[in-house]
Amino acid sequence: MDQYAKYQTYGEIKYHVSLKKYTSIRVGGTVDAMIFPHDLNALLGLLKELHEDVLEFKVWGMGSNILASDEPYHGLIVKLDRCLKSVVFQANKVYVQAGVSLIALAYLAADHALSGFEFASGIPGSVGGALFMNAGAYKHDIYECLEKVLVYRNSRAEWLDKSEIEVKYRHTSFMNHRNWIILEAVFNCNEADKQRIMNTMDGRRQRRIESQPLDLPSAGSVFRNPETMSAWSCIDAVGLRGHRIGGAMFSEKHSNFIVNVDEAKAQDILNLIQLAQAKVDEEFGIKLKPEIEFFNWSSYD
Ligand SMILES: Cc1cc2nc3c(=O)[nH]c(=O)nc-3n(C[C@H](O)[C@H](O)[C@H](O)COP(=O)(O)OP(=O)(O)OC[C@H]3O[C@@H](n4cnc5c(N)ncnc54)[C@H](O)[C@@H]3O)c2cc1C
Repeated sequence: MDQYAKYQTYGEIKYHVSLKKYTSIRVGGTVDAMIFPHDLNALLGLLKELHEDVLEFKVWGMGSNILASDEPYHGLIVKLDRCLKSVVFQANKVYVQAGVSLIALAYLAADHALSGFEFASGIPGSVGGALFMNAGAYKHDIYECLEKVLVYRNSRAEWLDKSEIEVKYRHTSFMNHRNWIILEAVFNCNEADKQRIMNTMDGRRQRRIESQPLDLPSAGSVFRNPETMSAWSCIDAVGLRGHRIGGAMFSEKHSNFIVNVDEAKAQDILNLIQLAQAKVDEEFGIKLKPEIEFFNWSSYD
């Protein structure tokens, strides 16, 4: 563990951390070390040194879209959701650092009578995580009002205009360049009536409470929606709603959610994913693609 001690100057380090505590689905093995940088400057210093040292590391936001394997991860996780928390409003522009919670951002924007983040009021991730995979809901997504993103790549921070980023349904260029780190973003919102924004968010929150198993640990939707059918209807059609393996189960309430009902292993969840993929392929010829991110799986990373 001594190899990490030198990075203490950049943030708090925890050793031999269980990832169960840091993923919303509450599974995962241990990681050798996790660092919580103090602020943006500390993070930049840390990244420079990590690159120079050629040390194995991974950047995480809030861990709400990650399935970490049960195996130990012999590397460093850099957690951004305790630093990079600044949000600045200037007219209809919003300057947001990557560690800011999407839900908090949606409510802050509403408070400033700015529309554009209503879709995000129930998505439990960070702005960085959302920009990484193009988080969205209700036919809206995080890129709609984006102007530009500050990215750390090639050993320096540089602005990327929205037009330079490839964006598709639950996919962006960042997923092809996993060593690029999102630091900050600028959004252009529309002025709107504060009460109307709040009403939209309240209505959507109610719909989520009614349709999603929010009382149990999960990582949100497991599969992306295929073009021809929704993922949940594929899972229903092959009889997997409520199907359980070990401590993991396709939710009775929303069959595209896998919930951790009783001390699930990551392997239980992977087994459910593979079972659904095989059955849906056999029944409909549809290859279900996971929406969740696999971490520390030799065959998935
Ligand atoms: C109950 C529930 C409901 C959900 N509903 C939705 C929904 O409606 N729509 C939706 O799209 N998603 C949904 N999700 C999934 C999840 O919240 C989003 O994908 C979210 O954007 C992930 O953000 P995060 O900070 O948790 O990312 P993490 O889970 O920490 O990381 C996910 C990936 O992003 C990368 N990453 C994170 N931050 C950065 C960064 N700063 N720079 C570069 N890479 C980074 C990580 O390396 C990792 O590969 C839901 C999840 C849950 C648990």
